[in-house]
Amino acid sequence: MNQQPSPARTATVYERQRQLLITALRSRGIQDDLVLAAMNSIPRELFVPPAMMGRAYEDSALPIDNRQTISQPYTVALMTQELQVRSGMKVLEIGTGSGYQAAVLAQLGANVVSIERHPLLSKKARALLDQLGYAVTCRVGDGTIGYRDGEPYDGIIVTAGAPDVPEPLARQLAIGGVLVVPVGPRDQQVLYRVTRTGQETWKAEERGPCKFVPLIGRSGWDESAG
Ligand code: SAM
Repeated sequence: MNQQPSPARTATVYERQRQLLITALRSRGIQDDLVLAAMNSIPRELFVPPAMMGRAYEDSALPIDNRQTISQPYTVALMTQELQVRSGMKVLEIGTGSGYQAAVLAQLGANVVSIERHPLLSKKARALLDQLGYAVTCRVGDGTIGYRDGEPYDGIIVTAGAPDVPEPLARQLAIGGVLVVPVGPRDQQVLYRVTRTGQETWKAEERGPCKFVPLIGRSGWDESAG
């Protein structure tokens, strides 16, 4: 007798788990209904390795290829909420990873450019985002220097931990644009929301502790960091 659950039953199980996760995110303080709705519509199980699919709706970071991680759902929700993404916004993401954060931004209607330093991750993320119908521009390179072709950006989100706010990114923001970036030592950072208030002025606000893999590059950590 076939003991495998049917695909339809599996999909229902994931849907139920996804709804429970959304409820948990709301009770942890995520208030932006658009962000929660976007996350409720994206199959996170497809963004994790097959062996991890059963854990896709835990509120935790999970390992992906190249010793990197797909970020914790709470962190994705918080960073997206801080960015105040609205339809038509031009958003640059540094650290494509699995592509999940890029999917959330695209689902919210942003025009997304996402940079990843590992070609394999970028290739896999691009294939999955294409398959799901998200028109995200994926590029391989050092995201700490930004992506000049698309500047200025209404929002920039850095999904790896930086030693300092990368200046090239702050300078690629439009006036009024927001940069969300984890900053601090390699093992623990503080999430910052940096708003460009003028040609040469920025306002930085702390948004609480967080923990990310290191941002490696010219305006990040040395390669030896991981
Ligand atoms: N946003 C991803 C997701 O939704 O799965 C999670 C990103 S993971 C926590 C951080 C990613 O940043 C890794 O894939 C890592 O390779 C990438 N990264 C680190 N330094 C980078 C750099 N200078 N430029 C581009 N990507 C970088």
